[in-house]
Amino acid sequence: MIDPEKRLSHEALFNILTLSKDATGIYTGEELYIQSANNALLRIWGKDSSVIGMTIEEAIPELEGQPFIDMLKNVWRTGETLTGKDVEARLEVDGELQTFYFDFEYRAIPGEDGKTYCILHTTTEVSERIRANKIIEENERSERALNEELSAANEELYSSNEELAAMNEEISSVNDELRIAYDHTRQLNKDLQASEHRFKTMVQTTPIGMAVFNGPHFIIQTANQTVLDIWGRTLDQVVDRRLLDVFPELQGQPFPGYLQSVMETGKAIGFPEIPVDVNQPDGTINSIYVDFSYDPITDIDGNVTSILVSVSDITPAVDARNKIQEQKEELEAVNEELLASNEEVRLGNEELQENRDQLLVAIEDLRKSEDNLRLTVEAANLGIFNLEIATNQLIVNSRFRELYNLPATGEVDTSQVISNIDPEFHDYAQSALQDAIENDLPCDMQYTVTDTLTKQKRWLRSVGRVFYNADRDSRWFYGVIQDITEQKKDEQRKNDFIGMVSHELKTPLTSLNAYLQMLEMRARDKGDEKTLTALVKSVKQIKKMTNMINGFLNVSRLESGKIHMDKQEFDIADLIFEAEDETIATVSSHNIIFAPVEKTIVYADKDKIGQVINNFISNAVKYSPPLSTINVACITENGFAVVSVKDQGMGIAKADQEKLFERYYRVEGTHMTTISGFGIGLYLCAEIIHRHDGKIWVDSDQGEGATFYFSIPLK
Ligand code: ADP
Repeated sequence: MIDPEKRLSHEALFNILTLSKDATGIYTGEELYIQSANNALLRIWGKDSSVIGMTIEEAIPELEGQPFIDMLKNVWRTGETLTGKDVEARLEVDGELQTFYFDFEYRAIPGEDGKTYCILHTTTEVSERIRANKIIEENERSERALNEELSAANEELYSSNEELAAMNEEISSVNDELRIAYDHTRQLNKDLQASEHRFKTMVQTTPIGMAVFNGPHFIIQTANQTVLDIWGRTLDQVVDRRLLDVFPELQGQPFPGYLQSVMETGKAIGFPEIPVDVNQPDGTINSIYVDFSYDPITDIDGNVTSILVSVSDITPAVDARNKIQEQKEELEAVNEELLASNEEVRLGNEELQENRDQLLVAIEDLRKSEDNLRLTVEAANLGIFNLEIATNQLIVNSRFRELYNLPATGEVDTSQVISNIDPEFHDYAQSALQDAIENDLPCDMQYTVTDTLTKQKRWLRSVGRVFYNADRDSRWFYGVIQDITEQKKDEQRKNDFIGMVSHELKTPLTSLNAYLQMLEMRARDKGDEKTLTALVKSVKQIKKMTNMINGFLNVSRLESGKIHMDKQEFDIADLIFEAEDETIATVSSHNIIFAPVEKTIVYADKDKIGQVINNFISNAVKYSPPLSTINVACITENGFAVVSVKDQGMGIAKADQEKLFERYYRVEGTHMTTISGFGIGLYLCAEIIHRHDGKIWVDSDQGEGATFYFSIPLK
């Protein structure tokens, strides 16, 4: 142990510390008052001894923001020593804030009470070492970096070497490929040439017209045959020429505008079915329908350099379509017509149906009337015959057989029937039948047949006419036979009675006439005019009455066959002359003109023919108005003398004309009541003419006058 006397005082210790080369400082209190700081420390701080007694914060203000003051305070409080190595501190030395590096220790020196008495700060500046270290580090780092770069460069070199090798390989394989590609290209070129040739051929032969227009002036670069045909020009005439020079008519049409737009926009334009008139060099106009399109052709940069024109002449298609349209319309019209005619047919069908129904009703009626007819025939006890004219086949009923004395069964023929008629009627029946068949006329005849058993004469009336079957290919003569014996007997009785009465009347009438004529003479002698007039009228009436009675007598004689034709040769001209004489004397009411008549010799009953002429004339007077003209004439025609009497009277309706010559027939009508007559005059005339093998007829229209004719054969 050291002798306490020899112990150094605190101050001496301080001073010794101050002399230490190592920087040393002593601080006290929490405020860290600088108790001591040796020169080494002051040098480090860059301060002088005036800082002693200050707090560290006051002495070294630049420490603010650095960790040292907090570290010291912590040491003061905790009493724990703190060391640092190579610690960076910034201090203001020589008026400049500089960075230094230190190894240091803050050691808390405890007092007797165990609390911190002071802090001993020792520090050694290591800035040089740190700097040298830093340089070394820097050098090492840069060397390292260089090394790294070098090795990286080496690696890169290596890898680029490898790449180069790979590239070399690639190049050689590319070379191979290129060679193959070259060969391929050559082949392609050949193919291309072939395909170009094919394309050109195709373009030339295609039915689509194609042309190429170049540049802004649309110079025609090429055109195929189809388009040249449409244009009506040869290639030489158009190639390398401006479109508008070749086709000036396009100016003002929309096509140049379209081309311009394709050039500018690079967008294709197309139009279907455009009507185009192309002026041909020969002055004609080619009017066609086309589908056309303008397609842009571009260079590598996408600029439009030319335009491909495609034109299809679709005129035949359009024509065909129009034709089809027309045909369609026609068809529609025909269809409508068909519909209309269908409708007509339908209506016609309906009508037909109606007609059929009516026909069915009619057939039913017919059947009924056939039944009725059969009943009638049976009831009337009529004979029926049906003669097929072509085959002469005769079908008859049993009553017919009875009436004609024919066998009850078996075939019969016409000759057999005619031979059974009484001989005096053979010719009459034969010719009447023949006439009816040949001339399609109705036939109505009467004759007698003598019963083989009773030997009694039977009067038969045969009425018939020709019928055709539905196809009009066969003719039938059909008729009915009626036994008119009883009628005939009645007529006979009537005739006998009329004959008898007429005969009986004739005698008193003759004496009446004689007395009247005697009285007439006396009156004339006496000059008794009044009586004379009355008597003249009476005589006229007696004459009329005598004529009438003669008529009846003639009828009755005719009927009973007692009338006799006293035929002789004479000239009709004479007869007409006599008639003229008589009418001049008796008729003053009418203008009767007699045409001159040439000599016409006939063999006939002169009185009876005269009677016929007089009857015609007196009828003309009776049935035509007073003062009208009556023409009488006689001509020769085809071996016949034809006498005619023409008036301007009331005329006769056609329906009445056939019946005029029947017995007692008079036309009905109001005026007839005022004109007297019995309807026997023309009947007698007809009988007389027929017995001369002549004809009698009338030609007239109601209200138009009438002309009566008769003809008898010339001698
Ligand atoms: P009637 O005594 O009645 O004259 P007819 O036999 O001479 O007898 O004539 C028959 C009928 O013919 C007459 O009633 C008359 O109706 C008609 N008839 C005859 N002649 C003529 C004529 N010329 N014009 C018009 N009708 C006539």
